[in-house]
Amino acid sequence: MSESAHPVVSVVIPVYEEEDNVETLCARLIPVVRAMDLPAEVILVDDGSKDRTLELLLAAARANPEIVVRSLARNFGQHAAVLAGFDAARGTCVVTLDADLQNPPEEIPRIVEQLRAGHDLVGTIRQDRQDSWFRRRASRLVNAMTRRASGIELRDFGCMLRGYSREIAKTLAARSESHTFIPALAYVYAQSPVEIPVAHAARDQGASKYSLLRLFRLQLDLMTGFSQAPMRLLFSAGVLVAAAGVAMGLTLAAMRVLHGPEWAAEGVFTLFAILFLFVGAQFFALGLIGEYVGRTLGVVRRRPTYVLRDLSGLTTDAAAADADAGDDDGAAASEDAS
Ligand code: UDP
Ligand code: MG
Repeated sequence: MSESAHPVVSVVIPVYEEEDNVETLCARLIPVVRAMDLPAEVILVDDGSKDRTLELLLAAARANPEIVVRSLARNFGQHAAVLAGFDAARGTCVVTLDADLQNPPEEIPRIVEQLRAGHDLVGTIRQDRQDSWFRRRASRLVNAMTRRASGIELRDFGCMLRGYSREIAKTLAARSESHTFIPALAYVYAQSPVEIPVAHAARDQGASKYSLLRLFRLQLDLMTGFSQAPMRLLFSAGVLVAAAGVAMGLTLAAMRVLHGPEWAAEGVFTLFAILFLFVGAQFFALGLIGEYVGRTLGVVRRRPTYVLRDLSGLTTDAAAADADAGDDDGAAASEDAS
């Protein structure tokens, strides 16, 4: 494809210190992209690598006209790199995958097919996952927790081989939320998501860029970004503990009147009841403050209250009439204003 033809497919790949994978990646990816017979571009985003990655990416771009290279000034993380790729993408179908060949590039046409069939978000479920036992267990836990807390019905949050409509990719890039998790965030905007099974391979070369600490941070992003459940739990626990304290205090007071001070171990139990009450009140107050912080976070994030449906594909009279009516309203409004 020539650079000037408008691409239909944009493949976005974050690349961080993958000098041993870049050449194999391009060698496998480019034939797949060309075989699709659609104008396509491949956006390789170097995430501030300190090894030869950028040099190799630039060499690949010189050899293949469909490759576009972006380079982040320092290591901003995989999700920031993907967002930078979304920002640069010009295609109507945007596909992301990892540079380490864990996601086979050969699966890209199947994702594009789903996007072209009208799905605006294509998730994937890794079949026969080739990661360590520990990573698989951790993923299962994270997937289950996130599904429960966020209410987002995704089977596999972690797989980055995904498809996004242009609208979703651009919305994500424009808002550029920090501390976010793109696969889950995209679901906030999706109208017709679908999940398909894809193959998965072991990392080709090099080591995973995710240490235990980074995985933990990612889980925190996922939790704080999509759910107020932990805060609400604190709040409920506070109410329960405070209620237990009050109940205990009342019982002790009654028993003391009935059986005298010796029964209540000379006031030790009463102290406990008072302690419970105060601890409960503190939890309650923390939960309440958390609720305010959560709501503030919601506003600061600027996630839209609504997302408009794209009507360009609907050429029915009703849609045209709707559009006309909208124009009239607009004209009337501007007349009123003037
Ligand atoms: N990556 C990135 N920036 C980072 C870490 C990773 O762009 O700070 C890229 C990396 O080059 C790869 C993808 O994100 O293309 C996934 O990384 P990795 O394979 O290390 O993650 P894992 O498969 O272990 O989850
Ligand atoms: Mg990997």
